Amino acid sequence: SSIPKIVILGAGYGGVLTALRLQKELNYNEADVTLVNKHDYHYFTTHLHMPAAGTDNPENARVNISKLIDEFKIDFVKSTVVQIRPQDKKVILEDGTLSYDYLVIGLGGEPETFGIPGLAEHAMSIRSINSVRLIREHIEYQFARYKLEPHRTDYLTFVVGGAGFTGIEFIGELADRMPLLCKQYDVDPNLVKIYNVEAAPSALPGFDPELVEYGMDVLAKKGVTFRIGTAIKECTPSGVVVGDNEEIKSATVIWTGGIRGNRLIEEAGFETMRGRVKISDHLLAPDSDHVYIIGDNSLMFNPEGRPYPPTAQIAMQQGVVCAHNLVASIRNQPLKEFTFSNKGTVASLGKGEAIGVAFGKKYKGRVASWLKKAIDIRYLFIIGGIQLVLRKGKFL
Ligand code: FAD
Ligand code: NAD
Repeated sequence: SSIPKIVILGAGYGGVLTALRLQKELNYNEADVTLVNKHDYHYFTTHLHMPAAGTDNPENARVNISKLIDEFKIDFVKSTVVQIRPQDKKVILEDGTLSYDYLVIGLGGEPETFGIPGLAEHAMSIRSINSVRLIREHIEYQFARYKLEPHRTDYLTFVVGGAGFTGIEFIGELADRMPLLCKQYDVDPNLVKIYNVEAAPSALPGFDPELVEYGMDVLAKKGVTFRIGTAIKECTPSGVVVGDNEEIKSATVIWTGGIRGNRLIEEAGFETMRGRVKISDHLLAPDSDHVYIIGDNSLMFNPEGRPYPPTAQIAMQQGVVCAHNLVASIRNQPLKEFTFSNKGTVASLGKGEAIGVAFGKKYKGRVASWLKKAIDIRYLFIIGGIQLVLRKGKFL
């Protein structure tokens, strides 16, 4: 049993790409690879804003892991990781223990609430299939409740906290969903209010200002009210407190104010910044030659010294290099340094509308929305080939 054991934690963008590359590059019996994930499916976070708002079915945002990986080459374990023990080279699962020679940590992020009171208890966030099913049902339920308690207009007020890409993509879908819900529940559309509250002086801070203006315009025309330069201070059972003690009464608060790394990594004793570990150019944890950390759990800096934002794009590219380095380690070959190749960013604004920067050019409107679809299709193709494109690409 001198075969090295590789354990991959998390079947997100980083973990799946690592597993797929390993199954391709490793020779027979060169390593034992185990992939652990708390669900038996992989979900497309980049698509979750749609099922969250109810403009698409959650089924279109997930695929069974057995359809992606070759189970003759990779052992899939459906379980939840409860503890990582680097000193013992062990991972504790809810129902067992795994030991490893090489570990890949790709458990993804968690919502960052910055200690804002009440957010963890009273707000919902767009993180997983389970979390978006809850949001979708909750939104519809507010319309049903309103019909029996027509004085409760707060049931028809929706607050989205944070105008980063997640918040902007979600309000685009939410605004698209409202006319249909109003019709189904015989509700006057004028009673529905959608607020997007952003602390920074602009929506999508740091993004191209011309595109931001275009995007806000599109969303405002769909009925979204922006409260820019206004911070959420507290979340209560009856709404949010913003700016100078102003209350927005709302039965629905969706928090899209940012993400952090995973608490399990902090608990494992790694040095972290907001739950993310500063990794080496080889994607290794500090002072380690066998623990790789990728995706939203990792922190890397660009040549100007600014952290790369945690995206699916970088997680995928890291997965490829991580697999390469695992194979190289096993073969005693030199490791590769990771360099991020930024293909751009495209954000949807609801049906037929988007904004983006790609290949150094700006895009908006229908062309940008096609580009977004092309990116989604490309991803399905990379992980599951043409079959997955045909099965899941129908949301396009
Ligand atoms: P994830 O993809 O989050 O995967 C982590 C996996 O680990 C999940 O399968 C989870 O179930 C599993 N897991 C977690 N905890 C445990 C545990 N304790 N035990 C076992 N398994 C566990 N990025 C882009 O580049 N482009 C986009 O268009 C884009 N759109 C986005 C839209 C939304 C609505 C959101 C929320 C994010 C978007 N992002 C986008 C960001 C992107 O989704 C993340 O950066 C990316 O998912 C990170 O990949 P990851 O592999 O680190 O983790
Ligand atoms: P984010 O950190 O990018 O944005 C959070 C926003 O919330 C910021 O604008 C911040 O100023 C605001 N905020 C923070 N505290 C606040 C408060 N108290 N009150 C009001 N506003 C507050 O988070 P995100 O949008 O979830 O994005 C996470 C990552 O996923 C990013 O790297 C992003 O690029 C990526 N992403 C990409 C896409 C895409 O490419 N289409 C879509 C979604 C997410």
